[in-house]
Amino acid sequence: MSLLSAFRRLRPPMWARRLMPQAQWQGRPDAIYLTFDDGPHPESTPAILGLLKNARWPATFFILGQRAQQYPHLIAAIRSDGHQVGNHGHAHLHGWWTPTARYLDNWQRGHHISQSRLFRPPYGKLRPAQYRAVIAAGHRIVMWSVMPYDFADRPASPKEWIPTLQGGDIIVLHDTPRGLRYLEKILPLLQHTINDHGWKAASLAS
Ligand SMILES: [Zn+2]
Repeated sequence: MSLLSAFRRLRPPMWARRLMPQAQWQGRPDAIYLTFDDGPHPESTPAILGLLKNARWPATFFILGQRAQQYPHLIAAIRSDGHQVGNHGHAHLHGWWTPTARYLDNWQRGHHISQSRLFRPPYGKLRPAQYRAVIAAGHRIVMWSVMPYDFADRPASPKEWIPTLQGGDIIVLHDTPRGLRYLEKILPLLQHTINDHGWKAASLAS
């Protein structure tokens, strides 16, 4: 295990949840939620949609406004397959390093394009003023309960986390070519696990 991977957390720590108590960290206890950030992407989005269709797995895509403007047909495909669309901002901004006015403008632009009141902050990082403004506008901040690091050189092994799943878990994955390869690996195992527990696959309610 590398030093870096020793500091990775498959599940967000309790203090993070306490900092954003009004964010959603968990779903209904009888369901498992797959979420895909950072798309759409001309290679991975169609392939991910194909995998999800075969598995009959509704999911949630937290899209970037600027990518959606580039590939509107992919957003239409996500919607017509019955998946939920959420807002990941117009550009992929880190809240801590972005002045609040600019951050909120970016969130609003993402909202206009996604037409969604579900907001997943990039990197999961928000300043308190940003968090309060998004909540006050009646939007829901959606975090996650499981992060398998599908974007990393060495993602978490499926055996490391799939057996530890609990009903209600929100899993964060990525709509990227690398995320697609990871999804191919885990989807059969996930399917098996939810069947064993009697959970259902679900997209997030808007
Ligand atoms: Zn992201």
